[in-house]
Amino acid sequence: MAKKRRIILALDVSSNSRALRLAELLRDEIAFVKVGLQAFTACGPSLVGDLVSIGVKVFLDLKLHDIPNTAAQAAGEAVRLGCSMMTLHIFGGLKMLSTVRLHVDEIAKEIGQVSPRLLGVTILTSLDKKDLTRVGVSGNIETSVRKLAHLALEAGLDGVVTSPRELGYLGEAPLDQLLRVTPGVRPRNSSSDDQSRVMTPIEAIQAGANYLVIGRPIISHNDPLKAARRINQDLESF
Ligand code: C5P
Repeated sequence: MAKKRRIILALDVSSNSRALRLAELLRDEIAFVKVGLQAFTACGPSLVGDLVSIGVKVFLDLKLHDIPNTAAQAAGEAVRLGCSMMTLHIFGGLKMLSTVRLHVDEIAKEIGQVSPRLLGVTILTSLDKKDLTRVGVSGNIETSVRKLAHLALEAGLDGVVTSPRELGYLGEAPLDQLLRVTPGVRPRNSSSDDQSRVMTPIEAIQAGANYLVIGRPIISHNDPLKAARRINQDLESF
């Protein structure tokens, strides 16, 4: 039986040809490619279709956050592009989350596709307690993240994007029903770049991550295929 692939390759690039080259090269080593704001803005929505047409699954990471109707319509268009997973900010509130869930399922049904997984973003890991207080969010960060994760569950989302240090409490019932997708992962001996609290791939999986978002340690490596294979070899025991 094929090994479960855990890597989500962050395609943080600005050219369509580089994105497609990396996706072609690495597709057997990864579960999804992640198209984020940089690649989407630089290459345009057609990048998603181009990636889907070479047989890779696309995680569209646009972190939608708007009034329910606008967020839902944008998410519906993302379904039509062919993505398999997408993100939205849980801060958009229950109504936004539920409206997006409903509309995404309707569009997927209409075009005969499996409905994409919806992942909620809790609190950006770039924000600390002081930053949050300045935007009016006071109290303990863990309590807020837990509340947000419960809201994601209530709205029928499939998972959350979570920093390695949140994996512990997000693995407790009933939140453990949510998929946990974790960035901030660095293989042994690689630079942490601008990521501050990193875990190795094995540590993150042991801590309960289902998928690992990894970008620069692979795409900036002089041999991206070797870098990805090495991570997968490390993970083989799981
Ligand atoms: O290159 P690197 O492995 O750091 O890329 C990680 C990816 O995960 C980037 O696309 C980044 O935007 C995303 N991400 C993150 N931290 C978060 C949320 C998303 O690094 N808290």
